[in-house]
Amino acid sequence: MTIQNDMPVRSYSHFIDGRYIEVTGGDGSQRRSPANGKIVSRVSVCRPEHVDMAVKSARKAFDEGPWPRMSGMERAEILNRFANLVHDHRDRLTRIEVEETGKPIRFARGDIDGAVGLIRYAASLGMQMSGTSLTNLGTNKMALIMREPAGVAGLIIPWNFPALILAQKAPFALAAGCTVVAKPAGFTPGTAFEFAALAFEAGIPAGVFNVLGGAGAVAGDGLTSHRGVDVLSFTGSTQTGQKVLGNAAKNLVRSSVELGGKSANIVFADADLDAAIDGALMGAFFNNGECCVSASRLFVQSSVADDFIARVAKAAAMMRVGDPFDENTDVSALIDENHFAKVKDYVRVGIAEGAKLVVGGEAVSSLPGHFLQPTIFDQVKPEMTIFREEIFGPVLSVTRFDTLEEVVRLANETSYGLSNYVWSKNIDTVLTVARQLRSGWVQANTAIDGAPQLPLTGVKESGFGYEMGQAGFDEFTQLKTLFIHTGPRTRVFDR
Ligand code: NDP
Repeated sequence: MTIQNDMPVRSYSHFIDGRYIEVTGGDGSQRRSPANGKIVSRVSVCRPEHVDMAVKSARKAFDEGPWPRMSGMERAEILNRFANLVHDHRDRLTRIEVEETGKPIRFARGDIDGAVGLIRYAASLGMQMSGTSLTNLGTNKMALIMREPAGVAGLIIPWNFPALILAQKAPFALAAGCTVVAKPAGFTPGTAFEFAALAFEAGIPAGVFNVLGGAGAVAGDGLTSHRGVDVLSFTGSTQTGQKVLGNAAKNLVRSSVELGGKSANIVFADADLDAAIDGALMGAFFNNGECCVSASRLFVQSSVADDFIARVAKAAAMMRVGDPFDENTDVSALIDENHFAKVKDYVRVGIAEGAKLVVGGEAVSSLPGHFLQPTIFDQVKPEMTIFREEIFGPVLSVTRFDTLEEVVRLANETSYGLSNYVWSKNIDTVLTVARQLRSGWVQANTAIDGAPQLPLTGVKESGFGYEMGQAGFDEFTQLKTLFIHTGPRTRVFDR
């Protein structure tokens, strides 16, 4: 089988101060499509001087430029033009995303549409940006608590949702009046560069939205340790998040980090089981399972478990694995060879530790890229590796439970705490479980749903800080308290 991809190879250099800068020497990097191995994009090499140039450009734009000084309304108007341009370029951006990530095209299109919604929502928050005033401090005293832009924002973006996660951060920072240096993942640089160029075309001034390509060890490390950065927002692995926080600690830079998860999807016997089956598939296999909020641990109440698991397995076996450009594809290529090997190894470990493989588990040899069949393990126990570690691939672990108390304990038995899901028609059950789950996000009777208004955050090793919603906007702002004394003031040292 051949995998389509028909766009010319794209070449990017760092987007700094409103233009792609000229970079001489060095090999740079090239991205091969994970679906067919063809080169799809190239990015110039990144050296420390490029990081410095990008941060200085953002710094100057913040300290001296018009962007932070515009009214929220003016910024919102430009951001809405940016959203319109992203919408106009929807097809091209979608295809770039498919080529670089390998994700199915209908999900990539959803990501671009989601990004448009996020930009528009962030723009609306920028219009309303405000602080508070206190007039209850006494007759001669009052205070203004002013909300101001935080400054230069350093944004580190992962490869699983390159456009969407960029849009969960950059427009919020921009709407608040910050300037930005974004660093996309090495595998998936395209849409970040395209977004920055479109933002510039929309009227965002030079230096306000910069993008650095290049390796995490240079561009990412350089950005997160640069003294010109005021606030950091990172999404990615726990290990890299710890490095980012180490850099941030040295410079005392405020940071938010979103570091993955091992979510529980809890199905009670009284749920709408047809809907819960679709939710189980969505939770486990959406975006090839390369999703921080994947519902990778399915808990099914024992009284319905045999039938439910059999139906989920049957549906998983019928999922279409293949060409990401095919509108009918459900699951496609994993991001690269090493990650593919890592996910396959989890399948091996699952079998070796005694979990029961009920469907999948094999690479798809008829396809040229890194394709794994949707895989389901039953009888997974809490001590097993596949119960505990984030696999980040199309692999679902199933565990049966009897009581609400038991499943809450099992669901919370993880070092992560990003998201969880619960299915039941009983409102008491939903609320009781949701309140006891230790995660930043719980969804009831749906899976991997969301809206720009809803903040995403983690607890435990899933990180801290917010993305999206009012709280996500506030991450890119800073409060300044102005205490004002009016009229005669009683002397403290009356000498
Ligand atoms: P990383 O955490 O290494 O990558 C995330 C981002 O951080 C990328 O832009 C990366 O750049 C950048 N980065 C890498 N090193 C540094 C550094 N020293 N300082 C600052 N930024 C840096 O994830 P991986 O790509 O290595 O994926 C590993 C695992 O992480 C996956 O298998 C998955 O389990 C998990 N993951 C979780 C995600 C989530 O949404 N929570 C998203 C992606 C991965 P570059 O790509 O150039 O290295």
